[in-house]
Amino acid sequence: MEEMRRKMEERVHLIRQQMEEAARKAGRAPEEITLLAASKTQSAEIVALSAALPIDLFGENRVQELVDKFDAGAYGGKQVDMIGHLQKNKVKYTVGRARLIHSVDSLELGQVISKEAGKKGLCQDILLEVNIGREESKSGVFPEELPRLLENICQLPHIRVRGLMAIPPISAKEGQNRPYFSALRQLFVDIKSKRYDNVHMDCLSMGMTHDYVDAILEGATLVRIGTGIYGPRIYKEETP
Ligand SMILES: *Cc1c(COP(=O)(O)O)cnc(C)c1O
Repeated sequence: MEEMRRKMEERVHLIRQQMEEAARKAGRAPEEITLLAASKTQSAEIVALSAALPIDLFGENRVQELVDKFDAGAYGGKQVDMIGHLQKNKVKYTVGRARLIHSVDSLELGQVISKEAGKKGLCQDILLEVNIGREESKSGVFPEELPRLLENICQLPHIRVRGLMAIPPISAKEGQNRPYFSALRQLFVDIKSKRYDNVHMDCLSMGMTHDYVDAILEGATLVRIGTGIYGPRIYKEETP
């Protein structure tokens, strides 16, 4: 475990340095950019070790993992976001635990979240997920569907839209995702300038281990890094 802790510490240190460098290059303040540790598949023990490192918060893909680690106190007082696809029947476990839900891509999901947040006396912050690469297999709305979703979702009483999230196509070459990041940022800026009610555009969630530097250069305010912190993921067989 000490070996793992030391490795993670080194990796986070390096990531912070590169984040800072990218921020400066883009003429931005490094403090503006949040480092989210994507801790999917990592055990509560590893997550608890990483909580002491200079990461800002955690992100999980699966509700069950989020619940287990949250309830075990693995996040060490740091907050956790839901970054993976969210099923409507799991919303009740997510609202009240997740700081921010990054993956809202339908009005129906928004309605379920708002209702659950209302029941718990909360206002749930969300991001709208955009399928910026127009990939069949990905969740998220197409850019042209975004205005309509936003206009409807911002009327829900217990939700606040805080920004946008995207996962661009897996790229073979470095720098290949920059046009996608730039397109997402343009959407973000357009929405911000329109001043919808209940919409406070302050989070642009984009960039992962292989492309976070480019994402920051294109305006990301939050990067989601998994393997870059924890090393390669080991997926266990689903238990029946
Ligand atoms: C796993 C995951 C990440 C982190 O991916 P890495 O390539 O390991 O950095 C970021 N965002 C989402 C939505 C993820 O599922």
